[in-house]
Amino acid sequence: MNIYIENHEFHYELENLTRIFLPNDKITVHKNAVEFEKPFIKAIRTIGNKNSELIVEVYFDDFDKSEKIIITNNIPDYENECERQFAVMIFKLLQEYTGVNPPWGILTGVRPIKLFRNLKNQIGTEETERYFKEKLLVSDKKTALSKETEKNESKIIELSKKDSFSLYVSVPFCPSRCAYCSFVSQSVEKTKHLMEPYTDLLCKEIAKTAGIATKVNLKLESVYIGGGTPTALTPTQLNKIIKAISKDFNLSDCREFTVEAGRPDTVNDEMLIMLHENGIDRISINPQTLNDTVLENIGRRHTARQSIEAFELARKHGFTHVNMDLIVGLPGDSFESFQNTLNQICNLEPESITIHTLAKKRSAELTASKLEILRKDSQTADEMMAFAQDKLKNMYIPYYLYRQSRMVGNLENIGFSKPGFESFYNIFVMDETHTILACGAGGVTKLKEFGTSRLERIFNFKYPYEYISRFDEIQNRKSGIMDFYKNIM
Ligand code: SF4
Repeated sequence: MNIYIENHEFHYELENLTRIFLPNDKITVHKNAVEFEKPFIKAIRTIGNKNSELIVEVYFDDFDKSEKIIITNNIPDYENECERQFAVMIFKLLQEYTGVNPPWGILTGVRPIKLFRNLKNQIGTEETERYFKEKLLVSDKKTALSKETEKNESKIIELSKKDSFSLYVSVPFCPSRCAYCSFVSQSVEKTKHLMEPYTDLLCKEIAKTAGIATKVNLKLESVYIGGGTPTALTPTQLNKIIKAISKDFNLSDCREFTVEAGRPDTVNDEMLIMLHENGIDRISINPQTLNDTVLENIGRRHTARQSIEAFELARKHGFTHVNMDLIVGLPGDSFESFQNTLNQICNLEPESITIHTLAKKRSAELTASKLEILRKDSQTADEMMAFAQDKLKNMYIPYYLYRQSRMVGNLENIGFSKPGFESFYNIFVMDETHTILACGAGGVTKLKEFGTSRLERIFNFKYPYEYISRFDEIQNRKSGIMDFYKNIM
């Protein structure tokens, strides 16, 4: 798909919006072109003395329609309003062409709840709801969900103070690679030899980071060891990392310590005993589905039975906060099979359940038959998500929500918990409430100035082999934390 723009710079937003409808297409943006290659979307602005004319044309072989609007030049927020109007016109035309009804309207951002909160603080809850529905074309259901999630999130966000921070530690190894994985994670088979040196260097980075956090007087609120699958390490290696954290950081005010035990096939007595003895108070065991055929389709080398057994083992070892992740829209999953999965998971009564939507990797461009599949997949994922949200609302509350690009049906990832079991880390990281110090390959430290929108990032190298071979550079980059806080604390 070609997007032709003229006389404005809204290409980023318009490209993201187009991708919602055409997730598999390669999208190319052209500025001020004179020739137009089909299929295309044109978004052209002509600015007159008093008014501007915005024209959108959408052209496919079997579809050619345009929309036009005139807006006054001296309205407040003129540029943003032009961008929004272009988005609304493109949305309506692509909706008509594809037959797809994205429930989040023209919203393309990752953090709709943060947007809801920011608007609420400016114009109040009712006006924000109206704005979501009428100006951003968000469905009634998603607007209500945003309102409720924002309310639940707020109580946690208010606990964060000027000197608060959270710690993320990355362990980018997994027993095998899932077909849909978008993380930097390497299969154990290929990288087993890197695990020991990785563990040792990670402990060094933890010590260095803790030293800086102490120097700038930061207070640790939550810790999350994720990845990857941290429990893909041996219990001895993971124990070393956890011990390094508790030795080097002051955990006396820490509200939550999570370890992702994502793959049920990495959960065993020895691992759980070690985690429990270390005071880990939240673990996440992620079945994704309880359909064995679907598990095979997505390259996870465990069975549904193993997920249930891992959960039961965690209970036996005294874990009182277990999260379980599921995914809607998995290849080969049906609505009935998803219902069956969720019913079984609910019978286990985990403290929190996170429902993700499959984010598809790009495949071939959209053809008529693929458009039909896209519509069908979107509808099934939508039905699964609606079922999940309806069922979970009786026992759980929605407490955090975010979106990614190329999600099937343009839905969301949403965390539900029993009241009092919201994950602090998940909320802080999605809201960008406070600084997140990150250690390990793929980790991104996000330095946040309290009460402002200022956010600076420090990136670690992505892959374990780079992390190991260029470790000194990673250590050096940590001085950026001191520089950031020098002037503001
Ligand atoms: S368990 Fe998660 S991080 Fe590991 S391969 Fe699967 S999706 Fe990727």
